[in-house]
Amino acid sequence: MTKLETLKQYFGYDSFRSGQETLIDGVVAGRDVLGVMPTGAGKSVCFQIPALMMDGVAIIVSPLISLMKDQVNALTQSGIPAAFINSSLSGLQIDKALQKAREGAYKLIYVAPERLLASDFLSFAQTAKLSMLTVDEAHCISQWGQDFRPSYSKIPEFVASLPKRPILSAFTATATAKVREDIVALLGLNDPIVLVTGFNRENLYFEVQKTKDKYAALTTFLNIQKERSGIVYCSTRAAVEEVCEKLKTEGYSASRYHAGLADDERHDNQDDFLYDRVQIMVATNAFGMGIDKSNVSFVVHYNMPKDMESYYQEAGRAGRDGGPADCILLYSGQDVRTNMWLIENARDVQYPDKETEELLKERDRKRLREMTFYCSVNDCLRGYILKYFGENPPNYCGNCGNCDTNFEMVDITVEAQKILSCVARMKERYGQKMLIDVLRGSKSEKVLRLQLDKLSTYGISEKSEKQLYEMINQLILNDYLLKTDDEYPVLRLGNRASEILRNGKTVQMKLVKEKQAPEIATNKKQTRPVDNRLFAVLRELRLAIAKEQNVPAFVIFPDSALIDMCMKVPTTDEEFLKVSGVGKVKLERYGEKFLKVIVEFLHYK
Ligand code: ADP
Ligand code: ZN
Repeated sequence: MTKLETLKQYFGYDSFRSGQETLIDGVVAGRDVLGVMPTGAGKSVCFQIPALMMDGVAIIVSPLISLMKDQVNALTQSGIPAAFINSSLSGLQIDKALQKAREGAYKLIYVAPERLLASDFLSFAQTAKLSMLTVDEAHCISQWGQDFRPSYSKIPEFVASLPKRPILSAFTATATAKVREDIVALLGLNDPIVLVTGFNRENLYFEVQKTKDKYAALTTFLNIQKERSGIVYCSTRAAVEEVCEKLKTEGYSASRYHAGLADDERHDNQDDFLYDRVQIMVATNAFGMGIDKSNVSFVVHYNMPKDMESYYQEAGRAGRDGGPADCILLYSGQDVRTNMWLIENARDVQYPDKETEELLKERDRKRLREMTFYCSVNDCLRGYILKYFGENPPNYCGNCGNCDTNFEMVDITVEAQKILSCVARMKERYGQKMLIDVLRGSKSEKVLRLQLDKLSTYGISEKSEKQLYEMINQLILNDYLLKTDDEYPVLRLGNRASEILRNGKTVQMKLVKEKQAPEIATNKKQTRPVDNRLFAVLRELRLAIAKEQNVPAFVIFPDSALIDMCMKVPTTDEEFLKVSGVGKVKLERYGEKFLKVIVEFLHYK
């Protein structure tokens, strides 16, 4: 079978997405590959299809147990023999799975990195015919990645212990050059084909809301979601508890997830969400890595995450089915302080020595600054993200909160002149807080003691602390000011300061209009040209089948397939097979049931 036939037969798709073919061809031709693609781009088929096309069994190293179960579930549903080996299985179950694997029963076997060197797994791998070793979430091997996992370091040792080195394929959504180099070097990829696809996810709408009342902003947003399901990320367990409790009291269908819950509850709550029994999951970022639920229609960040990598990965869990989805970040200054504290007091990280510690902390601070800038830029948010990941996007996307403009343009030239000359008068020796104090004429003990009240720029601004803070940030972003990278950063005049101070350049900036109960511009591409009644009937059928089989609904069909059914309204097997997401096995399994419901619907319409 060709790769295209394999795609259609097992996954029900008619064509490859950008990048998929290159990686599949590479592996099939015996090359090592590294695929760098954003979450939701479709990395899985890049190793699943080669695994199906090649002799032997592919080993897939994956960091999260929940991911394995879902993926194996989904593969089995599509008629692909697969299994997983991890600590959720008993010793007996593992023996059995390995026995079957030895007999050649599987094309793919998922394994947690910790298990690779366990003697039973090792002896299996050393005798089995392996088609390939795939490393998913490969950035976990790099200290420079945002979630380094020591157990990933065991992968090379595992490879070295095999009688014959298998083809290696690695995948990640983290694109920085440093991490990419690390992956190639540490995994020992042999002259790999490296494919980095564009990071843009067109169907995601981005928005940052600065609001005093986050909870009100959240509920205003939720109220227009109707039946759409989504995730609300909070940075602490306490916030998860609080927000979830409030939502439940007010009648929202919500559940909670964080590392402090008992295993049972966590597991049940996660299933409730996966199986569409609850609509909203309030969670810490412990939730979702490896959640393949394709119909997550929104991700709200109740707090700003620590870096852009985390943000894009978490937000990217929305809209995996390609449908329109919203990624909303609720920002407040407190979020920056919380993250700063977490960096300085990182408890779960062990540093080999003081020097590395400082290096890594500095890296984290830098990342946090870039995340904070995301929340204050006036430019296109998608543009900011894509630039962060090394792309060169157009400056207007038309599908983000800034492009949609809830900002007002203000001329801040005079204010900028005041700020810059104050920095000069203060001899470029002080930080942001002190600068603002002087500009606003503070009588604090420190200002008086240092005699800063004698400066001609003392007390010349009437702006609020917050406004000044935003303007200063804007000036830093545009190189008019420079903030040093020290422990106590000070402000200096930036490369372009003279443009304002001497050349009379005007500076404009969009300042956010602060709103009590924000109006929310949601995704404009939201309207779906489908018959909602048919969609509802199909959803019901899908849910019934999912319940019967005890799997999440999206494992039967993703939303995108149901939507395509509503558009194509198939009434025969051939027509049903044309639906995106319907392969041969799914046609055999579910064709009759779905066709019956569609025909009935047409009849009674
Ligand atoms: P990633 O691992 O990159 O986050 P997945 O492999 O989970 O993404 O794929 C995301 C979604 O895209 C899945 O629902 C998958 O079935 C779908 N998909 C993958 N490849 C294609 C394709 N060629 N055409 C249509 N949908 C696809
Ligand atoms: Zn935009």
